[in-house]
Amino acid sequence: MVTQIRFACPQCEQTDLQSLSAQDTKLGCSHCGAEWAIPTGAIKDDRVLRCVVCPSQELYLRKDFPQRLGLAIVVAGFTASCVTWYYHQVLLTFFVLFAAALVDVILYAFVSNVLTCYRCHAEYRGTQESDHVEFNLEVHERHRQQRARLKEQPDESESGNDRSRSEGFA
Ligand SMILES: [Zn+2]
Ligand SMILES: [Zn+2]
Repeated sequence: MVTQIRFACPQCEQTDLQSLSAQDTKLGCSHCGAEWAIPTGAIKDDRVLRCVVCPSQELYLRKDFPQRLGLAIVVAGFTASCVTWYYHQVLLTFFVLFAAALVDVILYAFVSNVLTCYRCHAEYRGTQESDHVEFNLEVHERHRQQRARLKEQPDESESGNDRSRSEGFA
């Protein structure tokens, strides 16, 4: 099984889609040609153990839910229920709302998981699910603040940039 990875290139920031296997030692960007080494042990037996794009070791599982479709179902259900409500079809109104919610729940149950990097938001599909856990707000917040700190740096003075950058990765 080959893992599909969707990531933003660290160099040109364009989104790229690549396939990844345990034998690969390098990952490259098809837009700008940038290449970097995949950390050893990052992929083991079809399982992605850490991010191969950025230095982050933390990944989380989330449902690969088509959010637009999910929202469209809810909106359609709501619109239909307004019509039935207007015609005083109370039972039908509840039925329509219930059906829309049910379709969403069924859809949610059947979509597969996608492994996502907290830091660079690279997405891994088709990987064996390992011991990664579901989204954790605390970890997300830590990575978000770390990113914000890294972003602020170019505005700071050029001197001492290296020092604060190494702190950022710590
Ligand atoms: Zn690139
Ligand atoms: Zn990453």
